[in-house]
Amino acid sequence: MNKKIYLSSPHLTGEEQKYVDEAFDTNWVAPLGPNVDGFEQDICNYTSAKACSALSAGTAAIHLALILLGVEENDEVLCSTFTFSATVNPIRYQKAIPIFVDSERDTWNMSPKLLEEAINDRIAYHKKPKAILLVHLYGMPSKMDEILAISKKYEIPLIEDAAEAIGASYKGKAMGTLGEIGIFSFNGNKIITTSGGGAMISNDPDYCKKATFLATQARDAAPHYQHSQIGYNYRMSNIAAGIGRGQMEVLDDRVAARRKNFEFYKKELASIKNIKFIEEPEGFYANRWLTTIITNSYETRESIRLALEKENIESRPLWKPMHLQPIFQEFPAYIDGTSEDLFQRGLCLPSGSNLTESDLERVVFHIKSNLLSH
Ligand SMILES: *Cc1c(COP(=O)(O)O)cnc(C)c1O
Repeated sequence: MNKKIYLSSPHLTGEEQKYVDEAFDTNWVAPLGPNVDGFEQDICNYTSAKACSALSAGTAAIHLALILLGVEENDEVLCSTFTFSATVNPIRYQKAIPIFVDSERDTWNMSPKLLEEAINDRIAYHKKPKAILLVHLYGMPSKMDEILAISKKYEIPLIEDAAEAIGASYKGKAMGTLGEIGIFSFNGNKIITTSGGGAMISNDPDYCKKATFLATQARDAAPHYQHSQIGYNYRMSNIAAGIGRGQMEVLDDRVAARRKNFEFYKKELASIKNIKFIEEPEGFYANRWLTTIITNSYETRESIRLALEKENIESRPLWKPMHLQPIFQEFPAYIDGTSEDLFQRGLCLPSGSNLTESDLERVVFHIKSNLLSH
């Protein structure tokens, strides 16, 4: 059997070990310590965010962001439908109601037009939503000028789920820094990893300070254990943060490598009639976490996916929209068919920063031979 080619696998440099060894040597083996502080500083320096709180997962960061914006039972939260379930689950942890908003064609992210329609509709017939939770899918920035204008006009705060978008930027600004609160994920499949982890960033240091407080069991200032709020155990460990410190040193290299994968696939496949790529609009800088293609039909998509699988090459359909998920289909959705169509015809290709030229050539070869066999 040929060597397995993964969709997106961890890519370490070895420098991570230095920070992890330091943690062992100094016995900082706890959910706090110098690596946690250092990692938060690294993220602030990289994104120019004023503050950061390192957490146990991107999901935990979203949960805390909702809590900090006051989202409670039966509150409504406007949310991208075209995403991973981890975006939506924390809305339900709060027993709040997700209101799904479809994508637009240029970036596949939340449609400003449908967002405004949804807000007007909710206000007219129900109540004003508490927050907007938007996703920069596959590391492609959303249409931020339009979204921010709506957030401001209706005074609804914005959370950016930038779990897939660290290293991406919009008109020179890092994703995650444009809304009230931004979140990152450092899961093993993301562009950089801490083996599992996440972070919250904000230009309002108060949000991150409160997130760290809630993430460490909401312990009041007292010599004994005193609590006046419900707390969580959501802090990042000093070991994980050590891996993160090493990874931050190479984040720009990782983005460059992923963008190079995209360019390679495009060069090799763009002339094929039944395959299309998503381009960056002017001023948008995508990290190309995953390279995605849109085929002409569900059948073509499946045929390519199965052909790759036979060759021990991992590929995957695009995210199945949340309004189609059995667990979420009862919730209101403002939909025009865009994400459903992309889900039907789209495929994520192997995109790791550690893929070799010959890996990429193998993928392209099997896609081309599959398409030519029809
Ligand atoms: C990965 C991911 C998350 C969740 O992050 P975890 O660190 O795995 O909890 C949330 N939203 C999106 C869009 C993601 O891709």
